[in-house]
Amino acid sequence: RGMSSVTIPPPACMLRPLEVPFRYLFGPGPSNVPPRILAAGGRPIIGHMHSEMFGIMNDIKKGIQYAFQTSNNMTLAMSGSGHTAMECAVFNIVEPGESVLVAINGIWGERVAEIAERMGAKVHTLFKTPGGHFTNAEIEQALAKHKPVLFFLTHGESSAGLVHPMDGVGDICHKYNCLLLVDSVASLGAAPLLMDQQNIDILYTGSQKALNAPPGTAPVSFSERYLTKLCFRYHHTGPVSGFFALRESLAILAEMGLENSWSHHTEIAEYLWKGLEDLGLKLFIKDKDLRLPSVTTIAIPEGYDWKELLAYIMKHHRIEFTGGLGPSVGMVLRIGLMGYNCNKANAAMALAALEDALKQCRKSKA
Ligand code: PMP
Repeated sequence: RGMSSVTIPPPACMLRPLEVPFRYLFGPGPSNVPPRILAAGGRPIIGHMHSEMFGIMNDIKKGIQYAFQTSNNMTLAMSGSGHTAMECAVFNIVEPGESVLVAINGIWGERVAEIAERMGAKVHTLFKTPGGHFTNAEIEQALAKHKPVLFFLTHGESSAGLVHPMDGVGDICHKYNCLLLVDSVASLGAAPLLMDQQNIDILYTGSQKALNAPPGTAPVSFSERYLTKLCFRYHHTGPVSGFFALRESLAILAEMGLENSWSHHTEIAEYLWKGLEDLGLKLFIKDKDLRLPSVTTIAIPEGYDWKELLAYIMKHHRIEFTGGLGPSVGMVLRIGLMGYNCNKANAAMALAALEDALKQCRKSKA
């Protein structure tokens, strides 16, 4: 007998076809991918080093520069999720022992603080419970005190449903010789953000939210100021199909126009917010101007089990909403309407599903 006898048989599941149900992805991401982007991702692949691929990568760079509103030369799509870009940014700036300031008002600041800590940084935090935000005075005070090399702020805090004010933050950072790193995974394309004008040094996002591409590619851009600290190598077999899809999603954003995309998300979000209040629900972020248009958070209504509401809506309406994440678990329900998913018909469908669930899942007969 040779060496070729296998002892593990082909698994039965692999002899059945792939099954993927249809779902309305109205959570905080991923969102549904429109046919045009799916089709782009389904094109035959070419080599990642072929000249046509370099052309496509260059288109992607231009598309990201537009979406971020930056002329930074070091602008690219990373292979990986939003976390990849988050880790890459921190790793390439911070040397062990250096001071980093992280604004924590939900899970994303927590995550960055943890990453920076593990990389050996001296991590200082500014803290608010989910839904809170930081004034420029608070930020400046902490910068003066801790003298960090890097300040991290989440623009669209998807675990809390908050869009953080950005004006002046970059200037304050630079006054203290600190780089500003901003997470726009949940907000890009949905809420105004202007990388160059707002003096952001490193900005990243994900492919799977308002851009409506499949998860797995992460647009990122680095300012010239950052490049003085950069030791960056980037060569590997890129996710070619993922880049085709991302190029298509950036093309859709360019065709629509950023301002139109921002105002469209706001208009649909306002329609959703009004409908939720008409159902007697309380929005978690009280101040309208601080609400993230792409991800709406609702305070869990009294007399309901939030897990039961979500399970009911998934089972009977094929719609995904989610609960909180990290520190907002048990505090909120989240509804995301992003990019392709962001329209009145979907908002109405989401409201109808929620209305039905509120009727069917009531615990206490008040
Ligand atoms: N930051 C924010 C604000 C997010 O909403 C997410 C994803 N929910 C991430 C970072 C992480 O991105 P990914 O899941 O693509 O790693």
